[in-house]
Amino acid sequence: MKTPRLLRILPVIVGMSSLLSACATQPKAPLNSAKPKVTTVTEKAKGPNGASEVPVGSVGTENGVYDTGQAPVVYGMRKFPYPYQAMLAISSDADSETLRKFNLVHEFINTTQMTPLGRGLGLDFADSFFMYNGTNEPGYVDINHEPMSDELSYFKGVTDQPYAASVINHYIHVGWIDTMHTYGDFSQVDQNKTLFRRQLAKQAIDALNANGDNITVWTDHGNRSNVDNFGAYGEEPFYSYQQGANPWSKYYHTNWTIPYGVKFVWADMSSSKIGMKSVIYPLTLPDGRHVWGFWRYTNSGYNGKGVPQWNWTPYKLASQLNPANLHELERLHEYSVVAQHLCGTPYPGVLGQSAVNALRLLATEYHDGRILVTRTSRLLQYNVTQQYVSYDVTYHGGKAYIHIREILDPVLGAHIPSMNEIRGLTFYTSNPARTVIEIGDHPIPNSLVQENRSDGVHPSVAVKWFPVDTTNYAETEPGVY
Ligand SMILES: [Zn+2]
Repeated sequence: MKTPRLLRILPVIVGMSSLLSACATQPKAPLNSAKPKVTTVTEKAKGPNGASEVPVGSVGTENGVYDTGQAPVVYGMRKFPYPYQAMLAISSDADSETLRKFNLVHEFINTTQMTPLGRGLGLDFADSFFMYNGTNEPGYVDINHEPMSDELSYFKGVTDQPYAASVINHYIHVGWIDTMHTYGDFSQVDQNKTLFRRQLAKQAIDALNANGDNITVWTDHGNRSNVDNFGAYGEEPFYSYQQGANPWSKYYHTNWTIPYGVKFVWADMSSSKIGMKSVIYPLTLPDGRHVWGFWRYTNSGYNGKGVPQWNWTPYKLASQLNPANLHELERLHEYSVVAQHLCGTPYPGVLGQSAVNALRLLATEYHDGRILVTRTSRLLQYNVTQQYVSYDVTYHGGKAYIHIREILDPVLGAHIPSMNEIRGLTFYTSNPARTVIEIGDHPIPNSLVQENRSDGVHPSVAVKWFPVDTTNYAETEPGVY
């Protein structure tokens, strides 16, 4: 499903430490005599959630945690929203996707209805998609000898005629799709050939913009015919086929793709680490543009020749989401982006029993309050915010005020965050009822404030995470398989 010849490249987190110490600001002293611990910024503060002895909390009351009557002391940030110990997203590539398979998978993972795979799991999972289908690989894409030409894509083939455009548009809007798996499946049997042309990228961006389809995540795809890939150019000679960011190439498109809104790029590089303290790294493209690269868990290890042992198909899902891996994430308080190809099987039921069981195990970790399972775009945005948020604390009139000032994003630029960019931020405080979260000097709406009882370290106050949405958004469309 993926290009097989990848070097072993160990994930390295680049360049975050220098920035962290620079942006801490001192809070003013509280009015009462209690001396507050000075709040600093981000991961460097090593909020107690970074310690290993934090017990799993039960889900707290949403508001109205007991007011101690005391002026609060703000201690710092909790790494992940209460009560979770880790955060995980499933990032599934659109290879061999059909609408039939897509709907089956999403009804099972996203909803809580009865489905052919059993009771739905109620997890926040968003998929990826293709704009075009330019493959000539043999074989079938689905049951009933469905040809590869019916692989799910926005346009028909490499034309300007819509194929699944309206249903893909629908799924982007409701949150079941958040990732562009390159502009299309351009894999050819002869890898020296391709149907990709620069004009196709322009047509795709125009269509996405016209429909209000905002996509922030890009994942590279396929064999060397997929010349619109661009994340790993220059990493080694093999990647020289990746022409998407080379201004001198006839396949150059990042002059449109990055300004359109792609912020996060998976660069076709393997990783055998289930979790990391941070999964993002600065990536400068050949044309000088800056994006965030990110790591996905793609393989269990490497053989003696350094070739990745891929485990990113449903057949191996149970080895990815095994109890040891999940418990390690929780123990180390890590992020995980699990790469998959959930529509990659020829099964009528799409997911085999071991894959279903693995997803059930993950759902238990989520519903029991240990791993926050969310869509890739939300995990990556939270990773940026948690790592680079700048805030200070003032005390006045028996209350504490947490002023969120900026996201000091070293790649895309420092900026005052929107509400959605600070979703989930959680601050330890001795008295949540008297601790106010503000953007600058403006309190966030009460409806978005969440007070949490102690998780064994401290109580906390938070900007609410995104609301749970288990709506069944599945749609069929005449002529789309
Ligand atoms: Zn792919």
